[in-house]
Amino acid sequence: MKILLTNDDGINAPGIYALYRELRKIGQAFIVAPETEQSAIGHAITLSNPLRLREIYRDGSFYGYSVNGTPADCVKLGAMVVFKEPPDIVISGINLGPNLGIDVIYSGTVSAATEGTILGIPSMAISLATRKEPDYSFAAAFTRELCLKVKEKNLPAGTLLNVNIPAVPFDRIKGVKITRQGKARFKDTFEKRTDPRGNVYYWLTGETIREEEDDEADGKAVIENYISITPLHFDLTSYPNICWLKGWNISLKD
Ligand code: MN
Repeated sequence: MKILLTNDDGINAPGIYALYRELRKIGQAFIVAPETEQSAIGHAITLSNPLRLREIYRDGSFYGYSVNGTPADCVKLGAMVVFKEPPDIVISGINLGPNLGIDVIYSGTVSAATEGTILGIPSMAISLATRKEPDYSFAAAFTRELCLKVKEKNLPAGTLLNVNIPAVPFDRIKGVKITRQGKARFKDTFEKRTDPRGNVYYWLTGETIREEEDDEADGKAVIENYISITPLHFDLTSYPNICWLKGWNISLKD
């Protein structure tokens, strides 16, 4: 099994290294990852600058390629340039921090997996729900087994898996829940500061707020120490509202 591994935390992040070590046990793992952190870059791609692949060595041996671009750039380059033929699976992560609810839209981690799906490759995004003192060992081992499951079952066309793993010891994880994308979102606040030269600048900060989170929601599962797996697709059409909008009878004559 040929596995393309990427992330949005950058090639030097410990999360991707943990995954690399586990996935090498079940196949050939190739890293193509951003050279710098790209968290919250979403599905951006680079059009106006040259993209450069750089060989990265770790502990004296070849580790992977870094790219001066976004996670989506990495998947495109990985699948179309590094591999002579598309890899069997694309895995993005392990992200430091959850990707739940509305945050999925901003996520570089999820967008990398979405890109794999657009290219027709089974893909998943893996996130560890903590911002500090991460222990990636269980999440990496779980991903390894899930990877084998995906290979066995395959994924429907256009569908990726968004996996969020609670950052608690293994014996406190209650199980796996198949969820839907919830409504949790970041309540943005801009902190106003002054730089050393007296100029005002702003820094986006805030906290996650949860509203109307029902039992099916991704965030609810993770809070209750379940691993959340959400099948996502990139068709953004609001199907129930096509009919409603047709009812407007928008015409050129009006
Ligand atoms: Mn990240």
